[in-house]
Amino acid sequence: MSAFIRCQQVVKAYKAGAHEVVALRGIDFEMEEGEMVAIIGPSGAGKSSLLNLLGGLDRPTAGQLMVGEQNLLELKGRRLATYRLHEVGFVWQQVSRNLFAHRTAQQNIMLPLTLAGAKRRERGRRAKELLDAVGLADKAKHKPVQLSGGQQQRVAIAVALANQPRLLLADEPTGSLDRENGVQVMRLIRELREQLRLTVLLVTHDIELADYADRVLTLRDGALGQDLTKQETPVVEDDGRIRLPETVREQLAKADQISVEVRPEGVLLRPEKAEEDLSEKLLQGILPQDAPPPVHRFRLRRQKERQA
Ligand code: ADP
Repeated sequence: MSAFIRCQQVVKAYKAGAHEVVALRGIDFEMEEGEMVAIIGPSGAGKSSLLNLLGGLDRPTAGQLMVGEQNLLELKGRRLATYRLHEVGFVWQQVSRNLFAHRTAQQNIMLPLTLAGAKRRERGRRAKELLDAVGLADKAKHKPVQLSGGQQQRVAIAVALANQPRLLLADEPTGSLDRENGVQVMRLIRELREQLRLTVLLVTHDIELADYADRVLTLRDGALGQDLTKQETPVVEDDGRIRLPETVREQLAKADQISVEVRPEGVLLRPEKAEEDLSEKLLQGILPQDAPPPVHRFRLRRQKERQA
């Protein structure tokens, strides 16, 4: 079975005057249908850019992006509008972006249904159903200002789910909430994911809240890494040997050789093909101004080579 979300080498660059800001540098990742994934990373890492691309609010500069059967690079005009209205629901950190202040909770939920052409009776039925689902059946006639921050985000989730999307994207949905409300919102998202078989991708800077997801990915400087905290911890033995977790060993298994770079932010193990070595040296010779910052570099020989 193929993945529900497939990002292949997704690049997003913005023009900022004469400069170009590269927010995503070739992102590769997949999500299964019904999976809940949290992305954590510092400000400016590219998290919102990634959500915007998946929500059809922006286009990648390069790469492939599939959600279900939809190739997001090919969606335009009416089909793109349909995708945004029916296939994906968004929850933002700022309540003002999620809800109209002058409308009641019920009216806010009915708005995307109206845009989708739902009949009056259907709109009422669905709004009631959703208010029940987020535990706010008694707040239908309340405007956002009459609700607490946590309740407002619950209504925002109901709005996002109004047209029964398969994908829920949430950008720091708990960012403006205290811990107790943050936990409640994460629990609600997880419950709804199970009830409605939603696929959920959310951004958070809170590692404890990220733990409500099935999987946590880290995004830094536009590049994704897998968070391994839930897996076996690497062990450094006395003689300097490191026992790496299974996932890392799988990543490195097919490499001809592995380069080790000591960078300011940590140590990078990079699987490489033998011939890449030469082309990289050549490139560095031709383009010295584009060469990466100096790194300590040496090769790890594979054990089986040594045994041979
Ligand atoms: P995050 O959500 O992790 O804070 P963003 O995706 O918002 O990161 O931003 C990633 C990088 O792209 C940042 O350097 C940011 O300044 C830049 N960026 C984001 N949106 C734009 C834009 N519309 N125009 C120019 N630069 C942008």
